[in-house]
Amino acid sequence: MCGIIAVTGHANAAQTLMAGLRRLAYRGYDSAGVAVHDGESIARLRAAGALENLASLDPESLSGQCGIGHTRWATHGAPTAENAHPHLSADAAIAVVHNGIIENADALRAELQAEGMTFTSETDTEVLAQALSLAVSRGEALFEAVLALMPRVQGTYGLVALDRAAPDQLVAARLGSPVALGIGGGCRLVASDPAAMVGFADDVLHLDDGDVARLTPDSIAVRSLDTGERTIEATTLTAEVNDAGRDGHAHFMLKELCEQPEAIARTVSGRLDARFGTARLGGLNIQPRDLIAFRGVKLLGCGSAHIAAECGAHLIESLARLPASAEAAAEFRYRNPVIERDLLYVVISQSGETYDTLAACNEIKRKGGTVIGINNVIGSSLARAVDGGIYLHAGPEVSVASTKAWSAMVCALGLLALYLGRVHDLSPSAGASLVKGFEALPEWLEQTYALRPAIREVTPLLTQARSVFFIGRGNAAPVAREGALKLKEIAYIHAEAYPTSELKHGPLALIEPAVPTVVVLPDDELLDKSIASLAEIRARDGKLIVVTDSDDTRIDAAAEAVIRLPKSHAALTPIVLGMGLQLLAYETAVALGREIDRPRNLAKSVTVE
Ligand code: GLU
Repeated sequence: MCGIIAVTGHANAAQTLMAGLRRLAYRGYDSAGVAVHDGESIARLRAAGALENLASLDPESLSGQCGIGHTRWATHGAPTAENAHPHLSADAAIAVVHNGIIENADALRAELQAEGMTFTSETDTEVLAQALSLAVSRGEALFEAVLALMPRVQGTYGLVALDRAAPDQLVAARLGSPVALGIGGGCRLVASDPAAMVGFADDVLHLDDGDVARLTPDSIAVRSLDTGERTIEATTLTAEVNDAGRDGHAHFMLKELCEQPEAIARTVSGRLDARFGTARLGGLNIQPRDLIAFRGVKLLGCGSAHIAAECGAHLIESLARLPASAEAAAEFRYRNPVIERDLLYVVISQSGETYDTLAACNEIKRKGGTVIGINNVIGSSLARAVDGGIYLHAGPEVSVASTKAWSAMVCALGLLALYLGRVHDLSPSAGASLVKGFEALPEWLEQTYALRPAIREVTPLLTQARSVFFIGRGNAAPVAREGALKLKEIAYIHAEAYPTSELKHGPLALIEPAVPTVVVLPDDELLDKSIASLAEIRARDGKLIVVTDSDDTRIDAAAEAVIRLPKSHAALTPIVLGMGLQLLAYETAVALGREIDRPRNLAKSVTVE
């Protein structure tokens, strides 16, 4: 998920690795490390926290021409030095850096433990180092050992391995996580992002999924697990290094919007059970027999996480038929809440450090309630405080305005709702249809992202606005709230969200041409009623921008502009339509020349009361 850099054939490999890691740093990470082959053995240094902590261990004193480096964004195990990469096998023969998630790590670890191997970290990655060292100790070459291991590994990886027995060799492999190879004068490199190799490599080759590569200072051999030996055409390395880790995107917010499909793919990865039409959520630490005893769910969060909680409450009520409600965490904790033993509490925070959410969590625990967490940062304060939970695995989010993390929260809550639903009355076939929906979700989000140019054309209707209404019904009501929040946060346009049905009970008085309305309109059983509301706004000279997945032509007749998004699964429309609104806010803020990534007066994680 984060950064990999490796080199063979440089006088001081560690220097190159540190330079590469510094270029990867802006992507966000929680710990870092390097390993260098000194001709005899593999030496390694790792540190939690900032790269400066690693730099203070004097990595450049490690002599050697071949090495691997990593910035980690933890998915398995807290961001400690022990869990940082590179991981070294117990016999110190193999070192590995890895981006991604090994889904069957527990099964592989159990197998290796049965062979007598011992483990020193909580990561999924360590199983790769140990499995490869076992194969190598039995006489296999590392390249062959990687080729043999990969088909047994489920999940995603970009990886590079170092072998004590081959001082100038790197072996790299890719499945679902980017890996590029670099060719420089007398050296070869590997990186998760070509930008990390600028200045060291002249040409670049991109591995495809299923490729395994062997590199020495003057050679590259690639074999595909599917098609055998293959040659990859090299292109000139043109990447820019000075866009502060935004991968060529104008803003982190845009980069994170673009990453949304893969972020969501990671959120659902390994958590779907197609056979039984349910979700696998081992991290909850609650058995179905205990889960069935809860007669309701209370969800808590702040800001966008509070709105994700509202979406979650809809999902849980409709799929699990359990009463569910959402509340702002700060309000909850100060009203001396009654904590009920048969309510399941869910606390939601991207960073896992949001002060008010953490305080609410502690208040629930003090009063004997069961609380699970949904957050994006492994080992965060929230993750340590809860009884169990679901990690988002969305990757680091730098932009203050949340995009992929918000969608991943709603997605994780959808998985929870599916799981609770199957524990209760949701039928296997309804569950199976939702599992299919989750599988297709990254593709629908990809299609949504592709609509960016069309969404940009709509922005003149908003840049001139004095104020904007966002309306929606049912599960679209909280999505409208998120759309309004996003527009306020980054475009600085006053926006207000209302349930569509409430409009005529007051706000309709404010409708006029300078106050447009963004309508979130899923193709559901309320469609006809919502279309009737469009007419009410129209009759008051209100301008309408409709964000919908419905083909109904009455919408086009009523609206100034229609943003038509892919049809998805009924339970997942909040995520697809929500992303449409994120793009709309982004494009509007760009058109107004706003400071997108660091909006005024706001902080990314609110760790104060
Ligand atoms: N799953 C691995 C870990 O938790 C790799 C994380 C990453 O991609 O940085 O260590």
